[in-house]
Amino acid sequence: MILTLKPNAAKKDVDLICKKIKELGFTPHLSKGKEVVVIGVIGQNAILKRDIFEAMDVVAFITPISKPYKLVSREFKKENTIIEVDGLKIGGTDVIIAAGPCSVETKELLLEIAKKIKISGAKMIRGGAFKPRTSPYAFQGLGEKGLKYLAEVKKMTELPVITEAMNVNQVSLVARYADIVQIGARNMQNFDLLKEAGKTKKPVLLKRGLSATIEEFLMSAEYIMAQGNYNVILCERGIRTFETATRFTLDLNAVPVIKKLSHLPVFVDPSHGVGVREYIPAMCKASVAAGADGLLIEVHPCPEKAFSDGPQSLLPPQFDKMMNELKAVAEAVGRKL
Ligand code: PEP
Ligand code: MN
Repeated sequence: MILTLKPNAAKKDVDLICKKIKELGFTPHLSKGKEVVVIGVIGQNAILKRDIFEAMDVVAFITPISKPYKLVSREFKKENTIIEVDGLKIGGTDVIIAAGPCSVETKELLLEIAKKIKISGAKMIRGGAFKPRTSPYAFQGLGEKGLKYLAEVKKMTELPVITEAMNVNQVSLVARYADIVQIGARNMQNFDLLKEAGKTKKPVLLKRGLSATIEEFLMSAEYIMAQGNYNVILCERGIRTFETATRFTLDLNAVPVIKKLSHLPVFVDPSHGVGVREYIPAMCKASVAAGADGLLIEVHPCPEKAFSDGPQSLLPPQFDKMMNELKAVAEAVGRKL
């Protein structure tokens, strides 16, 4: 349930309520809006204790949260969440483009890609150092060496870094080097990993599972937020359907649906969602038109030699052309790149 406090609520009243919530075995989650403070009382059957809070003078009103996810829901927070990363405002007016190779390969190549995507207007660099591969014989990533390359390239280009942590032990390591910690589609319901990601101070980009419903996706984000990390970006990256013409089916329905259900920023990854280079520019534009706050796009100057996902990587000139077209789409829907 959500407690909306009276506009004049003093800090000591807020502290007192939080103490009471903890005494009852629940967790208080504060959200300070422009005018009022709201406190989420989170825990099983919290609503049964409604009367206790109703009796408090400083509580203006109480709203039960009908959804199974609480902190993630629009009911908990009406305004869009804006996540700040090195001055970028994720979830604001700007559509944030993160681009880069599927896997970090060499430092030189990463730097070459970073410089090119930056000229084209990308605001972040992506690239995996720990790679969740379907085949155990496929390239598994450079590990910490890859993270170091990402951090060095950030120093040279000032592009913040987004990269994946695949297991609990990697979270703090990845968080040391990255600006945003990615949790991959195949790990969307790795609940221990979600909890660990909830303990880091870095924003988390959570990808939708290959066969996850939107509700399951939001429940996974709730795991992260419940640990106190409110900086979660939700990323649609395609789901399994009967269709085989593309690698996955990019579910762009998810963008307006999630925007309605949640206050969190929504990214789309057309590269994995479609899996075929030729179709990616169209789906990038469609994603922005649908209301995406950002995109993840794979770019590689020599896709035939890429260690992973070459067939879906755009060549830098294709990325550049797409970015120009994307600017017009963004402007048409009141956004900018
Ligand atoms: C990736 O972004 O490199 C990746 C592996 O994505 P996903 O988890 O969506 O397959
Ligand atoms: Mn990839």
